[in-house]
Amino acid sequence: MLCFEVSVNDKQPITMGHKELAHMSLSLSYTPEVSSLNLSSFGGLRKVTSRDDVVSWFESELSAGDQISIKIVESLKADNPVTPNSTKAEKQRTLYCAFCGSPKTDDCRMVVSVLCICEKCVALCQSVLNNG
Ligand SMILES: [Zn+2]
Repeated sequence: MLCFEVSVNDKQPITMGHKELAHMSLSLSYTPEVSSLNLSSFGGLRKVTSRDDVVSWFESELSAGDQISIKIVESLKADNPVTPNSTKAEKQRTLYCAFCGSPKTDDCRMVVSVLCICEKCVALCQSVLNNG
């Protein structure tokens, strides 16, 4: 099967692939407002019956100077993907307030919807509405 062998900064490569794969992709994204630079992997399995059939192999936070290597290889085996919701990377993904840019921390809760809003900004909006 065709696989993507992905390595960041010459570390141990991850081989993306699956025998039941319908598609797979890599996404390099940069969001300057929150200084977020990420390399994400996604795959869809042929029998998609729920969100759990959308898989991921890794997610990597990057910074300037990092080097990504992608090699397309024929391989009989690949690293096992996981569903994004159960990956350690997903659990550790940082959420940022859309108003002030603060990251979610253990001592600052976040309202998460289409946008994320930290509790400090919620309190600020509440005081503006109360005093306005
Ligand atoms: Zn905020």
